[in-house]
Amino acid sequence: MHEIYDVIILGAGPAGLTAGLYAGRGGLRTLILEKGQDGGQISLSSDVENYPGQTAAGETGVSLAARMAEQAARFGADRCSDTIQSAELDGSVKTLAGLHGTYRAKAVIIAAGAHPRPIGCENEAQFTGRGLSFCATCDAPFFRGLEVCVAGGGDSAAEEALHLAKFARRVTIIHRRDRLRAAQSIQDKVFSEPKITFLWDSVVQRLDGGDALNKITVKNVKTGALTAIEASQADGMLGLFAFIGYLPNSRLFEGMLDMENGYIRTDENMRTNLPGVYAAGDVRAKNVRQVVTAAADGAIAAIQVSHFLQQ
Ligand code: NAP
Repeated sequence: MHEIYDVIILGAGPAGLTAGLYAGRGGLRTLILEKGQDGGQISLSSDVENYPGQTAAGETGVSLAARMAEQAARFGADRCSDTIQSAELDGSVKTLAGLHGTYRAKAVIIAAGAHPRPIGCENEAQFTGRGLSFCATCDAPFFRGLEVCVAGGGDSAAEEALHLAKFARRVTIIHRRDRLRAAQSIQDKVFSEPKITFLWDSVVQRLDGGDALNKITVKNVKTGALTAIEASQADGMLGLFAFIGYLPNSRLFEGMLDMENGYIRTDENMRTNLPGVYAAGDVRAKNVRQVVTAAADGAIAAIQVSHFLQQ
């Protein structure tokens, strides 16, 4: 691809798709690059109920992202599916090189999001996809009528435990403290769901099984005591869904951009330390990570790119 775009947007989550909408609508030649599915983290979300104006029952992250993508396309943003391997962000033309092509633009908006934090327990890699999942929307149906555990105590853990309760026989939330971090409204729902029980002050220590996970060893962080949660003989397998936060997808830009614990540092106009390079959404250092704040970041970044290009 030899064209020099006005702006390349890296990532098609809420931040990237909103940036694409604003950039396209602002008349910029825009390319949105995404390596996987649209929506980023919200594509893993079974229920989005706090995006303003979103009141229809049954809105999933996937359906919301699909409408965002359609809106960005309506304003002319080009799309490309590729995994970017290297970036040159100095100079007036920025270059992103992927597995399938090289892409150039006068400005770049990095909206690469974040990925689920691994548990860090023994045998994690062995059982990922064989009982251990990071996506309840994707994998809950495999555990219909079985027992599942959820690791974490934030909004994601609580919301996805509620989703899992529609399928599983019992859901045990394993949380490292004795109270949830999740928003009160979600906590109210979790505490009134009879299928959900809690293992407080606990972390997952080790996973065991044969082809599928059938034993989770949990450690009490206060007493050090180990407890085994085992699948019954009739069930034969257990599920573990991990929602213990996210890590930024920023490794590509290490050494190029200023960062804070791996998150890209920007000013309030989404500008990084390099001219013409912006960051938006969960990859950016900030306090509140919600769909609505990601979308806001994307809009600000695209408007700032327009100003930058006019200069
Ligand atoms: P989060 O808010 O960062 O919560 C992570 C949870 O995992 C916390 O309960 C934390 O425990 C626990 N944890 C972290 N590291 C751990 C470790 N090494 N071992 C065991 N437990 C660990 O992550 P999130 O729930 O995925 O949410 C991420 C962001 O998205 C948040 O800003 C959240 O508000 C937002 N979000 C919003 C919605 C919504 O509004 N509907 C839905 C999902 C996510 P501690 O509590 O002890 O720190």
